[in-house]
Amino acid sequence: MKFKSFQFIDKIINALEEQFPRRCSCGKEFENLKDFLENTTLPSLQNLQIFDCEHMQEILALRNCNNCHSTISVRCALNQNDKKTLLNSIKEDISNNLLNEDEFLILFRDQVLKNIQKKYYIANDAK
Ligand SMILES: [Zn+2]
Repeated sequence: MKFKSFQFIDKIINALEEQFPRRCSCGKEFENLKDFLENTTLPSLQNLQIFDCEHMQEILALRNCNNCHSTISVRCALNQNDKKTLLNSIKEDISNNLLNEDEFLILFRDQVLKNIQKKYYIANDAK
């Protein structure tokens, strides 16, 4: 695996799955993570908000409900220890590969999405 932090992705996906079912403010219910990904879209310009120095906030960050276009945030929801280790390995990946932080976070987010798509056999163009 190219990036050290990528080994946390399965754990992240499990933590994401535990946040479902959930409901959008318009009443649309997302039964599970697959349902959620298929019925929401990434806002075109988004601030990933993964870092605020100490805490990781959103991994999948924000998505828009396809029904009402409200923005829904999904928390990373790892336990404190895992979060700390993940943050450290993200920082290492960024400095070892001389990457821009925002670029890396987008790369990371896209890999999380890719793995979810693979897991649930969602068509690759679903973003
Ligand atoms: Zn909605």
